[in-house]
Amino acid sequence: MAEVLVLAEHTADGEVKKVTLELLTAARRLGSPSVVWTGPGADAGVARLGEYGAEKVYVADSADFSGYVVAPAAELLAQLVASVAPAAVLVAGTTEGKEVAGRLAVKTGSGVLTDAVDVVPGDGGPVAEQPNFGGAITVHSVVRTGTPVIAVRPNAITPEPSAGAAALEPVAFAASNAAKATIITGRIPAEPSARPELTEAQVIVSGGRGTGSAEGFKIIETLADALGAAVGASRAVTDAGWYPHQFQVGQTGKTVSPQLYLAVGISGAIQHRAGMQTSKTIVAINKDAEAPIFEIADYGVVGDLFTVVPQLLDEIAKRKSL
Ligand SMILES: Cc1cc2nc3c(=O)[nH]c(=O)nc-3n(C[C@H](O)[C@H](O)[C@H](O)COP(=O)(O)OP(=O)(O)OC[C@H]3O[C@@H](n4cnc5c(N)ncnc54)[C@H](O)[C@@H]3O)c2cc1C
Repeated sequence: MAEVLVLAEHTADGEVKKVTLELLTAARRLGSPSVVWTGPGADAGVARLGEYGAEKVYVADSADFSGYVVAPAAELLAQLVASVAPAAVLVAGTTEGKEVAGRLAVKTGSGVLTDAVDVVPGDGGPVAEQPNFGGAITVHSVVRTGTPVIAVRPNAITPEPSAGAAALEPVAFAASNAAKATIITGRIPAEPSARPELTEAQVIVSGGRGTGSAEGFKIIETLADALGAAVGASRAVTDAGWYPHQFQVGQTGKTVSPQLYLAVGISGAIQHRAGMQTSKTIVAINKDAEAPIFEIADYGVVGDLFTVVPQLLDEIAKRKSL
């Protein structure tokens, strides 16, 4: 069975991000999953990878991954594509993952598919499912040239455990001078937050212009904390400076696919929908019954958010005290 390369997303101390387990679950359908691990931490992460079916773990423990941006990872994958001839390469559909995918496709003369929400085997190679035009159209695509490079949206596939050998295989790697052209000059650690990371969260509470102001937006944080959720925002909110840009959901923000997405005071413009349409359950609170968000909502409440959300908070508090 041909190998399927999975680029691991992980921390330097070896914590494997959930999206990697999702990619392994998809890779098992296509062939024999081999994880590609960049930098340190593989010894700590290998057991987790084995639990989700990794047969091999290629480890390139090179300092070249920490000082530069994404180019070294793309070079390493190109090196492995040449030596292993995998059936496909799967990467996380994060901003970085998509850039790696694009670079790898160019290096290997292959087709690339991004924003996949599912990947299944097909007669002509892996078939990727992609929502388009804010989810109005679903496309099934196959790469017809080279090695399929597929970027899969975080949270789109449910990770399923399955034992794998997870044999560690060291890989010699030195990034080229071209890959080192852009260097990382500094890192600013994110403010520590008790909230889940936006793209990995199971529940997201997102606020829109309907919150009225930065002060009004605080009700979104309160609701998120009551539900143990991440906070998201529409572009209207981030452009107005009511909430930081890294929390923007949509075409020019983050793409999310949680189990539950609460859209509060958000109209549901197509550019917002493009980033959240694949959420499993969508709940909308909006005072305008004609707001487009209700077209895709599973549940909707027509009402003023400053009346509805406090009632919701009371109800959550009551249930928690049971
Ligand atoms: C190229 C491009 C890229 C874009 N990328 C993105 C993107 O990534 N993400 C994104 O979000 N947008 C994006 N946009 C902007 C997008 O088109 C919309 O302008 C934006 O999503 C609107 O945000 P909103 O829903 O918060 O505001 P509005 O459209 O103004 O909607 C506010 C909603 O709140 C409701 N409301 C008001 N007061 C209350 C209240 N008290 N209680 C309950 N409901 C209330 C209103 O009925 C209304 O439906 C992009 C636009 C372009 C052109």
